[in-house]
Amino acid sequence: MLSKVKRIIAIASGKGGVGKSTVTANLAMTAALAGKEVGILDADLYGPSMGIMFGIKEEAVIYEDNTMLPAFSHGVKVATLAQLFPAGKANAWRGPRVAALVKNLLDFVHWESLDLLFIDMPPGTGDIQLSIIQGCNLSGAIMVSTPQAVALADCIKGIDLFKETNIPIFGLIENMSGFICDCGKEHLIFGKSGARDFAEKSGIPFLGQVSIESSLMEGSDQGLPAVLANPNSATAETFNQIYYKLSTHLSR
Ligand code: ADP
Repeated sequence: MLSKVKRIIAIASGKGGVGKSTVTANLAMTAALAGKEVGILDADLYGPSMGIMFGIKEEAVIYEDNTMLPAFSHGVKVATLAQLFPAGKANAWRGPRVAALVKNLLDFVHWESLDLLFIDMPPGTGDIQLSIIQGCNLSGAIMVSTPQAVALADCIKGIDLFKETNIPIFGLIENMSGFICDCGKEHLIFGKSGARDFAEKSGIPFLGQVSIESSLMEGSDQGLPAVLANPNSATAETFNQIYYKLSTHLSR
């Protein structure tokens, strides 16, 4: 099912809640707006967000052989367990069930041809991450962290997992870098440039800083990624620059 997918890129964070899914949705949307054929595999099995972030309400189309069509929203193909299991129901699965679900998502979704498939990884460095690393041909990974030490510590573990398994790190994105209030002053709610400084010190390419921006949260909640809702905003420009840097890596 992945044979016509040119590049598979994992987006990971180590820690939850740092905005990895928000970054995945907006980066994928940016790539689609740039004319690429893009898909997102929502591998955050315990807390899939892509259904809400892309406004997907319909149930999945499943064929008799158990293969599945991805949903199609705003020009992006999305496969998420949010389409398969009722909202509000706890996904209380043990490791073997989770490993089987990851395998199904990798093997049974009709992606057809894609330039880029982004995998929204769950937090942590465990079963799901290993199943994905072993189950598909990842081109590389993008890491997301807030500037604070607590998030960075988990992000560094995530980087180590990819290094140990010989997956190239395309770069680090710092999310929630600061909040610019109406008075124009920047408030560094999660600290100053911690992820950028770490990237520079450790030789990891730094892809960009995304500010705390209510339009990003609203876009995610309304099923309309902010870069599509406000294509001329500073946030959209930030994602354009991140996508440009990623494209440069990919073309090497
Ligand atoms: P993760 O995937 O790392 O668990 P999410 O992408 O779900 O994190 O983001 C967690 C919450 O923070 C969500 O409510 C999301 O809308 C919000 N959020 C993420 N990044 C930003 C940002 N840069 N500005 C404002 N809100 C954000």
